[in-house]
Amino acid sequence: MKRIRKITILGAPGAGKGTLIQKLGLNVPTISTSASLREAAKSSDKGSFFQDKDKGAINLKELMSSGQLVPNEIVQNVMKERLNQDDCKNGYLLDGFPRTLEQAKFMDENNLGLDLAILLDTKSETIIERMSGRRTCPTCGAVYNVNTDQKPKVDGKCDKCGADLIQRKDDDPEIVKKRLSVYDKDTRPVVDYYQKKGILETIDGSKSLPDMVKDVLSLVNL
Ligand code: AMP
Repeated sequence: MKRIRKITILGAPGAGKGTLIQKLGLNVPTISTSASLREAAKSSDKGSFFQDKDKGAINLKELMSSGQLVPNEIVQNVMKERLNQDDCKNGYLLDGFPRTLEQAKFMDENNLGLDLAILLDTKSETIIERMSGRRTCPTCGAVYNVNTDQKPKVDGKCDKCGADLIQRKDDDPEIVKKRLSVYDKDTRPVVDYYQKKGILETIDGSKSLPDMVKDVLSLVNL
């Protein structure tokens, strides 16, 4: 069996990727694209403003909370730098990348090609219910859901660090609809791309969390 080291989990926003990833416990770092983008915005000397070749100066934080995708070139540069850091030497699990066909091709062209793409296939009704209940920790990034069995132990507080949980701006129902349509337009072609390459596996997102974890672990020898 080919050793699988470089993995991405694909799925619509709210499909449950973050919750699943938290429970996998794989032997490689999880690289969240949005966390890497936020980190890049924090450490940039231009504040949250980045230069895009087509759009000029864009405010990364504002763009990210509007439900639109960050331009390919900016995300690609941030991810290339992150994936070339030492902790990624033996592989990685990507959350939120690639999200466009151009990003998928960029990975292959830059020696970052994946061994496995896992599609978490979840119905849109389930997604909408999950997203309206999602709460996140602004301090450590932990994800909870007040509509499922992933509730925090103490109402409104993070189990891990005690911070006050928040509802992300982009989990607002209008923005959720926008994000789902962005997913259909931009990310479905990525699913087709990996299917054609023969490295796509699909997990049923309506299963219980332990069953989904089992399904992923049966695909990954890490
Ligand atoms: P997420 O937390 O993964 O839902 O991402 C939040 C926001 O980060 C998205 O709405 C986008 O603005 C941005 N983002 C995350 N991943 C990507 C990506 N691969 N390409 C472009 N924008 C991204």
